[in-house]
Amino acid sequence: MEAIVLLGGPGSGKGTAAELLAAAASASHLSTGTLFRDAMARQTPLGRRIRPYMSGDRLVPDEWATEALLDRLEQAGPYARVVLDGFPRTLPQAHALESHLVRTGSRLLRAFLLEMADDQLRERLRGRRVCADCGHGFHLALCPPARKGICDRCGGRLVRRHDDRDSAIPLRIQVYRDHAPLVIDFYECRDALKRIRADQSPSAVADELAAALPGAIAHQPQQDAG
Ligand code: ADP
Ligand code: ZN
Repeated sequence: MEAIVLLGGPGSGKGTAAELLAAAASASHLSTGTLFRDAMARQTPLGRRIRPYMSGDRLVPDEWATEALLDRLEQAGPYARVVLDGFPRTLPQAHALESHLVRTGSRLLRAFLLEMADDQLRERLRGRRVCADCGHGFHLALCPPARKGICDRCGGRLVRRHDDRDSAIPLRIQVYRDHAPLVIDFYECRDALKRIRADQSPSAVADELAAALPGAIAHQPQQDAG
């Protein structure tokens, strides 16, 4: 397996970038946030266990988050290429992922950090709306839907995620700032980290990511991006 890790604060655009990068690198996009929200919606045993954490804007305990993610990696199979979005979020998770990759003869292609200042993260989160049906993300000011409140892709209703409510935003950013430095150091020590400015258009971010992947699999950046 080949893994690409995306790090970045809530609102930094990890999900959008991961989706575009996965398409460009013929990889599958694996988001732990999406996995957890889906487990809650379907009321699986995992979904029931994590609900108190998710609705309290706290991290899901490392052991559960790791188990859920590794399960997904197993399902993806030994030849898959995956873009991880939202994992690892803590140092123990980074260690667990590394052990798994070593154990399965897999490799980490690159870890990317989408860098953005706190006040910008707050703006991004305040304006973020997601499709209730297909999950696609929009931003009221930065990338608004063609019709107010309606998903361009599927016609679904746009909603504000529960954890994007104003009162939850400062805590989520704080949780990120508490854990991220250790994870960043982890990948920096391994010479695997590449920092990307997140305050660019989604296609510009995606092009930078693809261009920084080991040569063989990176597509040429689009000339008209931006
Ligand atoms: P964002 O990056 O915007 O915060 P996500 O969709 O990635 O949103 O995650 C939403 C929530 O899911 C997090 O706030 C956290 O509670 C939980 N979560 C996601 N990934 C992990 C993880 N690797 N470890 C623990 N909790 C996680
Ligand atoms: Zn939709």
